[in-house]
Amino acid sequence: MDIMFKSTRGDKNYLTASKAIVKGIADDGGLFVPEAMPKMDFALEDILNWDYRELAYRVLRLVLTDYTEEELRYCINSAYDDKFDTELIAPLSVNGSASFLELFHGRTIAFKDMALSILPYLLKTAAKKNGVSEEIVILTATSGDTGKAALEGFADVEGTRIIVFFPEDGVSDVQKAQMVTQKGANTCVAGIRGNFDDAQTAVKRIFTDNALKAELKERGYVFSSANSINIGRLAPQIVYYFYAYAQAVKAGMIKMGGKLNFTVPTGNFGNILAAYYAKNMGLPVNKLICASNDNKVLYDFFKSGTYDINRDFTVTVSPSMDILISSNLERLLYHLSGSEEKTASLMSSLSNGGRYDFKAEDCFEGEYATVEETFAGIKEVFEKDKYVMDTHTAVAYGAYKKYLARTGDNTPNIIVSTASPYKFAKDVLKAIDGKYADVDPFAALDELSGVSGTLIPEPIRGIDKREVLHKHVIDKEEIKEFVKEQLQ
Ligand SMILES: *Cc1c(COP(=O)(O)O)cnc(C)c1O
Repeated sequence: MDIMFKSTRGDKNYLTASKAIVKGIADDGGLFVPEAMPKMDFALEDILNWDYRELAYRVLRLVLTDYTEEELRYCINSAYDDKFDTELIAPLSVNGSASFLELFHGRTIAFKDMALSILPYLLKTAAKKNGVSEEIVILTATSGDTGKAALEGFADVEGTRIIVFFPEDGVSDVQKAQMVTQKGANTCVAGIRGNFDDAQTAVKRIFTDNALKAELKERGYVFSSANSINIGRLAPQIVYYFYAYAQAVKAGMIKMGGKLNFTVPTGNFGNILAAYYAKNMGLPVNKLICASNDNKVLYDFFKSGTYDINRDFTVTVSPSMDILISSNLERLLYHLSGSEEKTASLMSSLSNGGRYDFKAEDCFEGEYATVEETFAGIKEVFEKDKYVMDTHTAVAYGAYKKYLARTGDNTPNIIVSTASPYKFAKDVLKAIDGKYADVDPFAALDELSGVSGTLIPEPIRGIDKREVLHKHVIDKEEIKEFVKEQLQ
């Protein structure tokens, strides 16, 4: 029996996983959720024997049930290969101060590679299975890391085009350089004058613009999404929570069957939602600690039961988490309330008044770290363990310390590390030593290499010398027109 996917907002169209992946988002603007939570059908002990690819197969077959074994293994083997700089794909680094699940060993050195390495294969396979003949246009709003990972994943993939929008002044220099130098005839990148929420809202609106969709269908295009609103992003992220657990057992952090906490640096709530799915599938998880930066809407929400975006948007040193509207929270609201009507009404209050009330009682704990706490954490862990955290990972580290102080919960914890420190080298160096405050963002790469005794990751070596291929900068109101122009 296939697990079918349906909208969080009540649209009664039930789709197979492959159809939901092609579609990206439901026609009523809701997100696709599985009609029933998939359940682990293997013994937990078995995960100790599997490498990343085998574990990925065992987990994904439970979620993406309409893919055949051959299809899934093809997608998995094509994604998790030597594009990653370690055989382990997602290694666990156990240190004195904390343990880190490193999700930044792929081509763009951020955790988005974990899902965006496989999404193009899942999508291409889905199109073939379902007889989709149109060219698939991937529209992506990015707070910095998704854009590059999606570009890298979809560049020159036959039958697809990709258009990425990023906040012109809201990403790191390395992130921007990575995107605007992207090669591939089917790629397009535009900076927008606005923030991530503006870009994401505009892109979501295009997905539900039926007139535009009909017009473009005539011209041979269908839209899909590479953002974490696509279930094809979420499903592959479940895998590494199982994988982390196996490594924690092997490292002696926990006994087989014991419980683990995960602390996740959170923006759009996709990564941590995958952990929630893993828990519901049967992984022994105690608490999921949702870490925010100064844009701490989620912290306030878990504490007070009110989600309220009526506040100033702050640009921080962890730009990939500078988000006020966390899209995937909608899925959690649906799972906790069990009601499409309720979810639809909360989402309508959000878009009308910028707030809603809902008490999310489950395994979630909200915490946050300020920029000062983030910097202090980087320095502390570097001095103690010679381990260098990036700014997002350091938000999680700071948040976890506060959680520990507040609760005394001594369940073993894994901090999910979402980016290489090289992606945010300037701020990382500044945290380690004030003398780097004015270092050039690209010179910072060499400096960090010297200070940390590690090598600059190959994908960003010499990034500032590459040719800029994408120069568009547009207003947020122009996004729709821009898309139409690109698809003339
Ligand atoms: C995207 C991103 C996050 C936030 O992840 P979500 O799934 O959006 O919550 C955190 N850190 C980094 C480095 C990221 O790229």
